[in-house]
Amino acid sequence: MSYVCDVIVCPRCGKEEYHTEFNCATTESSGICMNCGYATTNELPMKSVGVLMMQAKNGVGQIVSLSRMPTKTGIEKFRKMLKDQKIDKHKSYLHIWDAKKNEVKEIK
Ligand SMILES: [Zn+2]
Repeated sequence: MSYVCDVIVCPRCGKEEYHTEFNCATTESSGICMNCGYATTNELPMKSVGVLMMQAKNGVGQIVSLSRMPTKTGIEKFRKMLKDQKIDKHKSYLHIWDAKKNEVKEIK
């Protein structure tokens, strides 16, 4: 399988953090912005209110585009995870896209 990957300017937040991936075999594509969570599948935007990045100290990271606003419980879980010794709290974040202000709000 071969993929073509690129990092371009995000159409929503304007930061150069929009990672795209094109699968040459299936011609499917997907993209996610590491800053605001804007995500697409086959160039169609998906519902996204933000992004959660969890980076472990061993280098393994997971990024998730959020389709719903995180609940209070969800935010508390995020804060708890940041206290985990295995998590790199400097590289992990929770960003919510503020559509009215057109900017990212960082949840701490
Ligand atoms: Zn973005």
